Amino acid sequence: MINKYTDLVTFDKKHVWHPYTSMSNPLPSYVVERADGVNIQLKSGETLIDGMSSWWSVLHGYNRPELNKAVTEQLDKVAHVMFGGFTHEPAITLVKKLVSLTPDGLEKVFISDSGSVAVEVAIKMSLQYWQSKEQANKHKLMTVRNGYHGDTFAAMSVCDPVTGMHQIFDKVLMKNIFAPAPTIMIDDPWDDKETEQLEILFAKHHHELAAFIIEPIVQGTGGMRFYHPNYLKTVRQLCDKYQVLFIADEIATGLGRTGKLFACEWADISPDIMCLGKTLTGGYLSLAATLCTTNIAETISNGDASCFMHGPTFMGNPLACSVAIASIDLLLQNNWQAQVKQIESWFKQAIKPLGENKRVKNVRVLGSIAVVETHQSVNVATIQQHFVEQGVWIRPFGKLIYMMPPLIITQEQIETLINAIASALPHDKFFND
Ligand code: PMP
Repeated sequence: MINKYTDLVTFDKKHVWHPYTSMSNPLPSYVVERADGVNIQLKSGETLIDGMSSWWSVLHGYNRPELNKAVTEQLDKVAHVMFGGFTHEPAITLVKKLVSLTPDGLEKVFISDSGSVAVEVAIKMSLQYWQSKEQANKHKLMTVRNGYHGDTFAAMSVCDPVTGMHQIFDKVLMKNIFAPAPTIMIDDPWDDKETEQLEILFAKHHHELAAFIIEPIVQGTGGMRFYHPNYLKTVRQLCDKYQVLFIADEIATGLGRTGKLFACEWADISPDIMCLGKTLTGGYLSLAATLCTTNIAETISNGDASCFMHGPTFMGNPLACSVAIASIDLLLQNNWQAQVKQIESWFKQAIKPLGENKRVKNVRVLGSIAVVETHQSVNVATIQQHFVEQGVWIRPFGKLIYMMPPLIITQEQIETLINAIASALPHDKFFND
C-alpha cells in the first residue's frame, strides 16, 4: 500500500501537470481515494472536511445518490451524441429550467463545456451581434479591474491586467478597456461618486464597445470582494444609455452561493448575456451555459454569417445535462435559501474572533462564502499541509484564505474549518514576509 502510494505520488509529480503549477518544482498534490458528503478521503488515510466545494462546483456534497442516479440512468441510454443535427431530452429540459429560473429576458441558451468557453461564447456573441448590425467598430470590451473570467484568450483579456496573465500574453491579447474596481462593499453606504469614472469611460469609449463584462457582486479570484449592488445597477443603466451589451459572468455566483439564486438579483437587474458553469452540474461533470436575449440571438442569426460561429464537440453532453437537471431540482427541493442563510450565520459567528487577530486584515461573509484576508501572502505548500493535518481542505491564494463549502455542511464542520485557520495564524512559517 505504502509503495503503491509512493509510486502514485512520484509518477504524478514527474508527469501530471496540475493547475497553475510548475512541472520542475510542483506544489504537493494529495491523492484522493473517494469523497462522500462534505468529506474527502485521502489514499493516505486522512479524511478532510471540504471547505472549497472543488473550486465552487460541488453544491450538494460528493457522492449524492440523486446525482449518481441521474448519471447512471442516462449512461444506460446514451453517454454522448453530437449536438449538430441531434437534440435530446436532457438538453431540452435543462434549457427549459435555465430559461425559467434566470432573470427575465434570457431566452436563448448555448450549452458548452467549461466556464472559460462560456465566456468566450459570450464575447463572441457580443462581437457577432454588432457585426450583424453593421457596427463592427464596436469590437472592444470594457470591464473592471480585479476581475477574473477564465484562462482562454478572450477571457484572459478581461481578467485583471496586473494579477491576471496580461504580462505573459500581452502581444496576443485583445486590448480592452479597464474601469477602476468597485471600492464600496456590499454593506457600506453608497456614494454616487463610486461610478463617476465608469461613466466617463462609457462616454469616451462607447462607440468602440461591444460589451461590458463583470462578475456580479462577488469579484472572486481577483480578490474575493463583495461589492455594492448599486454598482451593478449603474452598469445596467450605462449599458442601456450607451448601447453596450451587458455580460454577467455568474459562473462562480450562479445557483445560490451568494444567498440569491443569481447574484444579479441583488441589484434587481437582467443582463443581456449571462454565463453559468461550475456548480451547474452540482460539481459532477464539466458543463457551462451562455444565455442571451432573443434580440441578440435573432440579430446574430439574421446577420451576414446567418448563424452563430461556435460548436464544441461535447456541446450539450447528455450525461452532464442530466446531472445538471438533478442538481437544480435538488437545490430547489432543499430550500436552498434557508441552507445558505444558515451557513452564513454559522460562518459569521465563527469567523468574528479571527478579525481581531493581528495577522488578519479583514474577515467577510456573504451567503455561503467566507473570507479571511491576511496582511501577508500565505505559503500555500506549508499552510496546506497544516490544514490537512487539521482534517480540513482549504486552498488559499495570495492573501486570501477563503471557503465556500457544499450546502450540506454542518455547524460543527464549519467550526472545524475556522479552527484550522485560527490555528495557522500564529505561525510565521505559513506566511511570506
Ligand atoms: N468566470 C469566473 C467568474 C470564474 O470564477 C471562473 C473559474 N474560476 C471562470 C470564469 C472559468 O471557468 P472554468 O475554470 O470552468 O473555465
